[in-house]
Amino acid sequence: MKLILLGPPGAGKGTQAKRLEDKFGIVQISTGDMLRAEVAAGSPVGKEAKAVMEAGQLVSDDILVRMLANRLAQPDAAPGFILDGFPRTVPQAQALDLMLEKMGLKLDAVIELQVDDAALVDRIAGRFTCAKCGTGYHDSFKPTAVSGVCDTCGATAFVRRADDNRETVVARLEAYHRQTAPIIPHYAAAGILRTVDGMADIDDVTAQLNAVLAE
Ligand code: ADP
Ligand code: ADP
Ligand code: ZN
Repeated sequence: MKLILLGPPGAGKGTQAKRLEDKFGIVQISTGDMLRAEVAAGSPVGKEAKAVMEAGQLVSDDILVRMLANRLAQPDAAPGFILDGFPRTVPQAQALDLMLEKMGLKLDAVIELQVDDAALVDRIAGRFTCAKCGTGYHDSFKPTAVSGVCDTCGATAFVRRADDNRETVVARLEAYHRQTAPIIPHYAAAGILRTVDGMADIDDVTAQLNAVLAE
């Protein structure tokens, strides 16, 4: 299964991608996670990306396309993948078409998670993840079962992203509407676009995704 999860920042792509990984035995490829790893490692790409990400803008297409091509060539992506956060611009979508064609691969579906802008600000401002295993949580919508302890691994340290603040969210939403939303008609024209109501609660969204993928 080869999927793209599309949607604005905070729509629930990462949350749902993790569940699809488990269900279908395919890997989540999150370009945001990959970039944050580069920033943490202080690599040349990370140095270039850091300020851009903190400002809520998009990192250059060149960097992203190279990064994704390398990642898709890894053996663990062969059984299938869920792209989370890529493509985010028309040139990235075009580069992906070429890449997949060269590899002889076809996307099964592009799933758009639709969420109102007003809800996204609250989702992003309350987001945190386990520092050890990366499980995602939310202060109000998905708290840990025991306060301060990860449900998945029992760790007690959590992280919040530098760009998850109310000021940067506005820039990220603007970038989504201006640069990313224009790729949606491309996939609609290809007949592979599916739309899911991302305003529903987390389990409902998962159920909708499963229904769409079972079609
Ligand atoms: P979110 O999950 O909130 O949508 P991501 O983790 O996907 O955010 O991305 C975080 C940041 O990383 C983005 O705001 C952007 O600066 C950068 N980024 C991630 N993916 C891409 C991409 N495909 N093209 C350009 N920039 C990207
Ligand atoms: P994205 O990867 O699209 O940026 P995330 O999956 O990280 O989004 O979700 C953003 C935040 O909102 C997280 O704190 C997550 O726990 C929470 N969240 C995800 N899906 C929902 C939902 N359907 N309803 C309420 N909160 C959600
Ligand atoms: Zn954990």
